[in-house]
Amino acid sequence: MKRVLRGHHLLCTHGFKGMGYSPDFVNVMTEIVGEIRNDERDLPIQVVHAFDDACQACPHKGKTVCEKSENSNDHVLSLDSRVLRHLELKHGETYMKSDLIIRTANKVKPEDLDHLCKGCSWLEYGVCKEGIGKLREKVLA
Ligand code: SF4
Repeated sequence: MKRVLRGHHLLCTHGFKGMGYSPDFVNVMTEIVGEIRNDERDLPIQVVHAFDDACQACPHKGKTVCEKSENSNDHVLSLDSRVLRHLELKHGETYMKSDLIIRTANKVKPEDLDHLCKGCSWLEYGVCKEGIGKLREKVLA
């Protein structure tokens, strides 16, 4: 099955530890994360800076924009743009998961999240940097 993932979720999936905006959102993220971390199976992923498969289950999803707070839509779009630029990916293009994982491991260091994810409320927990660190250990070993 092809997945649609927004730019910044390409990073979130490596550190996700079951935290999220609602039980439904957590369930969908858990499913996506399971696919991303399953080394036995590759899959095509369309990368976007827009709503994605995870957003569909988010309680803050409005008709056309994220409604978590007044500035949340601009905020998540800016995260997406930074991550897509950093990984040299194009909005709307489809890539294989294996390619995205190798790019992420090669191009993203844990400390890069300080600017790539600036303003994200999950950053301070440290799990995302830890996830990227473990990904690099695994892929670049
Ligand atoms: S800090 Fe936020 S945007 Fe960055 S990887 Fe973690 S949850 Fe995703």
